[in-house]
Amino acid sequence: MKHWEKDLPAGYREAMTIDAKSDKKLIVKMTLASLAVLVVFLALAVLWQGKKMLAEPMPLHLALGFWIALIAYLVLHELVHGAAYKMLTGQKLTFGLTLSVAFCGVPEIYVYRKASLIAVLAPFVVFNIVGVVLLAVLPGAWARFFTLIFLGLHIGGCAGDLYNTWLYLTRFQDPRTLTNDTGPVQTFYVPERDM
Ligand SMILES: [Zn+2]
Repeated sequence: MKHWEKDLPAGYREAMTIDAKSDKKLIVKMTLASLAVLVVFLALAVLWQGKKMLAEPMPLHLALGFWIALIAYLVLHELVHGAAYKMLTGQKLTFGLTLSVAFCGVPEIYVYRKASLIAVLAPFVVFNIVGVVLLAVLPGAWARFFTLIFLGLHIGGCAGDLYNTWLYLTRFQDPRTLTNDTGPVQTFYVPERDM
């Protein structure tokens, strides 16, 4: 199956735009969703490991490693989007960072639903696996605590990606749906006659 189009085919119309850079309402909603997820993970971490954490001093190398991992994660999350886009389309990518969003896009083409869904969800899946593996192998209460906080930040940070996924599962189920992704802005196009 073809994963992308260089030009928008005839008979398509613009159906929706998501702007994670300028849409203030959207930015507030995504930030609140991210914070809610973080609070849930913080509560889980404290309930699960709180007692043991009180009994162990916090290892400083873990706290330092946590911050290094977070900064690396910001970059790696976008690189995973990019790797998926590159494999599926082979086209030129764009990366960037604004106050509200870190992004990766493939701005010069229109990507079909399936490929777009894979690229959008790739970091969510990859880093959930990383988090679960770390939880399983890292010893000690503080390591588990930091890993859960990392997972909370990761899943909350995927709010935008999960919103896109939700749209593909509900509003844009047609496999012919095309998306132009500049990074911070996604525009969805659908075949005219079916919508
Ligand atoms: Zn993402």
